[in-house]
Amino acid sequence: MADIAIIGAGPAGLMAAEVLAEAGLAVTVYDRMPSAGRKFLMAGRGGLNLTHSEPMDRFLPRYGSAAGRLEPLIEGFTPQTLIAWAEGLGQPTFVGSSGRVFPKALKASPLLRAWLARLQGLGVQLRPRHDWTGWDVEGRLRFKTPEGESTALPDATVLALGGASWPKLGSNGAWTNLLEGQGVRVNPLKPANAGFEVAWSHILRDRFAGEPLKGVAVTFGRTRVRGEAMVTRHGLEGGAIYALSAALRDAIGKDGSARLWIDLRPEASAAQLEARIALAPADQSLANRLRKSVHLTPLETNLLREAHGKDLPSDPAALASAIKGAPLTLTGVRPIERAISTAGGVAFEALDDGLMLTQKPGVFVAGEMLDWEAPTGGYLLQASFATGAAAADGLLRRLGVQPKSA
Ligand SMILES: Cc1cc2nc3c(=O)[nH]c(=O)nc-3n(C[C@H](O)[C@H](O)[C@H](O)COP(=O)(O)OP(=O)(O)OC[C@H]3O[C@@H](n4cnc5c(N)ncnc54)[C@H](O)[C@@H]3O)c2cc1C
Repeated sequence: MADIAIIGAGPAGLMAAEVLAEAGLAVTVYDRMPSAGRKFLMAGRGGLNLTHSEPMDRFLPRYGSAAGRLEPLIEGFTPQTLIAWAEGLGQPTFVGSSGRVFPKALKASPLLRAWLARLQGLGVQLRPRHDWTGWDVEGRLRFKTPEGESTALPDATVLALGGASWPKLGSNGAWTNLLEGQGVRVNPLKPANAGFEVAWSHILRDRFAGEPLKGVAVTFGRTRVRGEAMVTRHGLEGGAIYALSAALRDAIGKDGSARLWIDLRPEASAAQLEARIALAPADQSLANRLRKSVHLTPLETNLLREAHGKDLPSDPAALASAIKGAPLTLTGVRPIERAISTAGGVAFEALDDGLMLTQKPGVFVAGEMLDWEAPTGGYLLQASFATGAAAADGLLRRLGVQPKSA
């Protein structure tokens, strides 16, 4: 029976382990952390968004320039496959109002527990506290462990080492040097679904950091996104910002800053806002007029001052247009350690169709360490699971082993 090493016990590595163990191979999963799936568990903290229910023609373009490379892999492991898989592990799912798919339990822990039990039943060996440090001259995998160095010489290897965000959860991106040292093309890792820096006044930073801007629309260039943004001490983060984060990051990389427009009342036209503001008693403070007429919160009024200058106009038409388009200058991207995910990684050109490194025959790559990115919405986990399954299929084809489903 062929001996397989999988390095990385996140969604991608564990999915590869499941497919390979079901096909009858002897699978050992190594991870540098004391337990498996730490980032997966963290992803479940605010509601585990497993995938998205939208049709494929809307789903695939979320992966931007990598959509073409991911298409056959996601067609091979679709959102429906993922939902059926979760349900098979006793975790029924539901579709939220945004179209996002969640397990009913919302958390990742019951799913991970059932999954690890299934893998154990399939004979998968888990080796925590094994920090992969590369290959020795004989081609053996080298690991740093609390008991000293250990090595392994498997018949094939799947690397599923994740990106470089939230390094305390295990994925630290240290693998980039190891693979580049082997002549593998790795595109620079960059923050994705990241926050941005804004030079807030001390009032905004000290009084409003941690408060959300709900139901706003943010526009960058020609892209407008409805959703929520969060004011932080450093700037802005949150779903609507993440959706624009790839374009904003690239613009800041090129021009040093980027101009974002916030519409605080996307559901109303400027004319409707103007009419409502005009009805508010003129002898009241501006903040009171805006609160009573168009329900601006103290944060929103202060954001207008931040964007348009301290002395806001008082006439209703000018105020309405200020509310419909508050410009903010983003001066930087928050560090990758604070981002939800990672862009960049192993270039698809370095891989064959089965996700095997052409420079390292017998070594396959899966998950977030591949060079794709996507907004939040379940696309990250979907691609991690799908590429894990695809790398395992590629490996089975190379060894001439039939997958269980075949
Ligand atoms: C706060 C947060 C919330 C998120 N929420 C969602 C969500 O709701 N929906 C969604 O789709 N996505 C979400 N994500 C993203 C999602 O969790 C990741 O995209 C996904 O976990 C990537 O899977 P992976 O298996 O490729 O990598 P990882 O999950 O990062 O796993 C990689 C594993 O490799 C191990 N490893 C790394 N280097 C080594 C080494 N040298 N030796 C041994 N082991 C090593 C790590 O310890 C880790 O266990 C969230 C991420 C964060 C940070």
